[in-house]
Amino acid sequence: MQDISRSFVTHDHLQIVFQSIGCRFQLEGRGCYMCSYGHAERNLTPEEVREYFDKSVDSYVGERHVLVLDVFGSILDEAEFPLANREVLIEKVAATDFHVVIFETHYTLVSIDLAEQIRARLPGKFVKFEFGVESWSERVRESIGKTTIVNAEIITLMRKLNERGFGICINVLVGMPNMSVREQVCDAVSSIERSFDYGANTVVLFPINLKKGTKLLEWYELGTYQQVSQWLLLDVLLSSPKYYLDRVYLSYTGDKGSDIKPISCNECGSKFQDLWGDFRVLRTADERYELLCGFRANTRCDCLDIYEKTKVANI
Ligand code: SF4
Ligand SMILES: [Zn+2]
Repeated sequence: MQDISRSFVTHDHLQIVFQSIGCRFQLEGRGCYMCSYGHAERNLTPEEVREYFDKSVDSYVGERHVLVLDVFGSILDEAEFPLANREVLIEKVAATDFHVVIFETHYTLVSIDLAEQIRARLPGKFVKFEFGVESWSERVRESIGKTTIVNAEIITLMRKLNERGFGICINVLVGMPNMSVREQVCDAVSSIERSFDYGANTVVLFPINLKKGTKLLEWYELGTYQQVSQWLLLDVLLSSPKYYLDRVYLSYTGDKGSDIKPISCNECGSKFQDLWGDFRVLRTADERYELLCGFRANTRCDCLDIYEKTKVANI
């Protein structure tokens, strides 16, 4: 079998994505419009999990701070990552020196009992759960086909996890469809604020990269969805409360993969990649804010002009 598991490294994070038959919602035809994690013919065996884990951890040379565990859908979904795989994985993770371990999963698969069982087997590690909420507006989530989250349920779960000292990371999308640029900024900023209000420790921003096989890419090709600008991500960060900036992480900012990436031009493209690289390395909210403000004050380019005109015209 060709192993299509993959791992990513960002600064002090190692993310391991084990191949699986795919997200249950995708398989039921209820997948989200921006998502193309894909699916394999079968799940891994426990032995393959062991091998891929060792290979990923052994070849990782960064600071062993955060380990993110993923499959193509939800790592805690036994249909994708059977119990025997989870057993092996937890045993392997316990033997590493990563401080923080994040399980990326649909929230309905997490119970307090399960969370406690996992933590009991990972002594000395901060256990976190990562949920792809994307937006706290149910109406906005519908616009990307994400109908599998009930706010009242997930907020209750977050409160309970919080009370018991578990970590929570919420993923927020930047560049929702059927919205003006201003509305996209407002939706993302409000989703960041609400995530922290509901008890998240961290938020990961996902500027939309258009991926093959997604409805958003179809809409883009039909001209009904506009590719997001790098300036939109900067605008969202600068419009968010400054004191949150040390707890905001960036996902794909156009620096890898063959997707259609957020827009940049010859003048700003590499500068943005340097900016996001520096942002990831800086630790404090003040340092990050100064970095962003300095970039904003000192960079002018064609795509900034287009971004500003689009924002003023409110389209
Ligand atoms: S975003 Fe998450 S829930 Fe939606 S289709 Fe992708 S893996 Fe499934
Ligand atoms: Zn530009």
